[in-house]
Amino acid sequence: MHDKLIIFDTTLRDGEQSPGASMTKDEKLRIAKALERMRVDVIEAGFPIASPDDFEAVRQIAESIKNSTVCGLARAIDKDIDRAAAALKPAASGRIHTFIATSPIHMREKLRMQPDEVLAQAIHAVKRARKYTDNVEFSPEDAGRSEIDFLCRVLEAVIDAGATTVNIPDTVGYNLPHQFGDLIRQLIERVPNSGKAVFSVHCHNDLGLAVGNSLSAVLNGARQVECTINGLGERAGNAALEEIVMTVRTRQDVFPCDTTLDTTQIVNCSRLVSNITGFPVQPNKAIVGANAFAHESGIHQDGVMKSRETYEIMRAQDVGWHTNRMVLGKHSGRSAFRARLDELGIEFEREEDLNAAFNQFKELADKKHDIYDEDIQALITNTIHDVSHERIKLVAMKVTSETGETPDAHVTLSFDGEEKHSNSKGGGPVDATFKAIESIVNSGSDLKLYSVNNITTGSDSQGEVTVRIDKGGRIINGQGADTDIVIASAKAYINALNKLLTPMERKHPQAAAPV
Ligand code: MN
Repeated sequence: MHDKLIIFDTTLRDGEQSPGASMTKDEKLRIAKALERMRVDVIEAGFPIASPDDFEAVRQIAESIKNSTVCGLARAIDKDIDRAAAALKPAASGRIHTFIATSPIHMREKLRMQPDEVLAQAIHAVKRARKYTDNVEFSPEDAGRSEIDFLCRVLEAVIDAGATTVNIPDTVGYNLPHQFGDLIRQLIERVPNSGKAVFSVHCHNDLGLAVGNSLSAVLNGARQVECTINGLGERAGNAALEEIVMTVRTRQDVFPCDTTLDTTQIVNCSRLVSNITGFPVQPNKAIVGANAFAHESGIHQDGVMKSRETYEIMRAQDVGWHTNRMVLGKHSGRSAFRARLDELGIEFEREEDLNAAFNQFKELADKKHDIYDEDIQALITNTIHDVSHERIKLVAMKVTSETGETPDAHVTLSFDGEEKHSNSKGGGPVDATFKAIESIVNSGSDLKLYSVNNITTGSDSQGEVTVRIDKGGRIINGQGADTDIVIASAKAYINALNKLLTPMERKHPQAAAPV
């Protein structure tokens, strides 16, 4: 007997709750498409009631995604459920995920409700959601700290009311693997109608145990895991999808189930999410870190060359690391470029976007000999946003850096179609450039983060810059890539400012209570 393990990705909902990881609608759609390509079973696309933008993001994803179930989150409140249902209307397969807290501390301090009232509201919410869809998930928030007798009552009642998945979240990341596995086993044993629903888990990484707790739950009967790419998520994050999937796949001798994911898409998805959110992946991160398959010690290298299995438990190519990494160069044509984009899962809605990307590729190939997948992905992030709506464009810049002199930047921007010049001095060339840009735009925002990453190796590598700006609590990321890191910095800053100038209804991705 070999079960299917359902992978429920919540990068776009819980992942986005990481401070600073907010994404635009277009960025969410790109990630959703990459997840669909990886054959993720369920994509939690957002929290439609949170704002018109969240609603629209879920609706667009519901409209575009055909091969994954698209899920929307809703508190156990009528208006939340109605809104989620409306956003999911175009979905080929949609799921409403509703939740209410069941731990004594949450019921008493946050909801100010008696347990019986919470139970009644949970039943009501599930029944209401079932009017819209027969795919309904219920979560007792903070289950990890709830009393098991009460949890059993709630779960039995919501399954009776029509919940098809019941999800047990360790909202605050407090559980230990043996304890959490035991909780799942007991719930499945004690809830009389447990066979009518899929048991799911949702673990947080506050003690570094999100993956361990999730896997322990799987060994005790859970058949859905909620997780995020790169373990993105609030505070210390959620369980990392890539670690869950590859542990189960690698240890089929232990797990009585497996996922149906295309694991060769993992590295691709990881890079895309890192790129969009500006959260770099640490080099020693399992599966997707740059060093995850690098063997440094001579003894290990020797062993791997003689027989891979001596030190490798997985094959790098199975998770999407390419052994043949050099892909394109100056003489590569449009069709080779397009073929590579296809393999990377990048598609363009409009022909002119492809043309723009191809032109950028040619420009880059003039400056840099070998073009790697990472270069292409950064280049796409640079070009894919709809430039026609951008109010600020970089026209020209000149920056001087000289020993003993104060760095000086001259910047020309097109701002609402009008060319404007400015020059500023600064502590360094990037500082001077940002000051010159800000003196034209007058955004009033604060710079919260500035980071540069080498996309590939070598001093001709593109620098990928991420900036994070904050204005009145609205946090925005900008990205830019160029072989010149000062220009990459200017691009990233302008990208963030353009997003800031786009009106948005919300300040923070999560206005209401999260699971
Ligand atoms: Mn969560």
